[in-house]
Amino acid sequence: MDNPVPTRATVPRPSYRGRLAPSPTGYLHLGHARTFWIAQQRAEARGGVLVLRIEDLDPGRCKPQWTAAMLEDLRWFGLRWQEGPDVGGPFGPYHQSGRRARYEAALEQLKRSGWVYPCRCSRREVAAAARAPHAEDEDEPIYPGTCRPEAGGAVRAADGPCHWRFRVPDGQIVEFSDAACGHQRFVAGRDFGDFIVWRKDDVPAYQLACVVDDAAMRITEVVRGADLLKSTARQLLLYRALGLQPPAFHHCRLLTDPSGRRLAKRHDDLSLRTLRLHGWQPEQIRERWDEPDLIAAFARVPGR
Ligand code: GLU
Repeated sequence: MDNPVPTRATVPRPSYRGRLAPSPTGYLHLGHARTFWIAQQRAEARGGVLVLRIEDLDPGRCKPQWTAAMLEDLRWFGLRWQEGPDVGGPFGPYHQSGRRARYEAALEQLKRSGWVYPCRCSRREVAAAARAPHAEDEDEPIYPGTCRPEAGGAVRAADGPCHWRFRVPDGQIVEFSDAACGHQRFVAGRDFGDFIVWRKDDVPAYQLACVVDDAAMRITEVVRGADLLKSTARQLLLYRALGLQPPAFHHCRLLTDPSGRRLAKRHDDLSLRTLRLHGWQPEQIRERWDEPDLIAAFARVPGR
């Protein structure tokens, strides 16, 4: 019998899988809540699944008590996930600290294919690599190439502890279409340089772990802050080098304080924990988070 021509109803469509990927390094603030809320809305609108992944790779900064506080605050705010450390799921574990073997395998693959080289430069750069670069001053400076082997030259074997750097194809244009920010274009070697994928203290870097996990968890769209647009360009190079299919991207605008600084841990008054203690309800928060002056908008205790 001939194979029936697949109809619209029988062709399996890749279903939407989004994720929330917080790092347990402090209380979540309004900016996280807004980005995660958008992620949840996009997943719901597409009848998709939302995954919670705890990005706890940096032992110096991530603490279990922050994970517990985060889960509580996320739930209080009205966020729900269908897969995660507390609810399980087919793509666990959902803590990055439990996924090390996957990152090691990816690093080995990059070594074998000559995409990475050992490097012994500056501690400061290495320290920053395990976390997502959220501000200009946290972004890796363009690497001057001190340890970079000659083009086409053999990659030296690592001799003692070193970190591993991804060799970007200089001058190559990395482009993608972002669902929120539109067309994006970066030049490898000019907008960003060779970046760290594994730290000398044996901690996998954010860029590598994020790609490995988003691919392994079959994420179809990554929703995160616009400060990570350049990281997306780096990650697209990693997807290609590892032979993985990249997801789509939606980078949300950042919430800032009146001086234009991105919300961060220093804005303790705008943490979900503080707002909740001051009597704010999640719906009231969502009504106000697009106001231009957030500090003023949330300074008053509601109902008083
Ligand atoms: N754990 C990272 C952060 O909280 C996630 C970045 C991302 O969504 O890729 O900054």
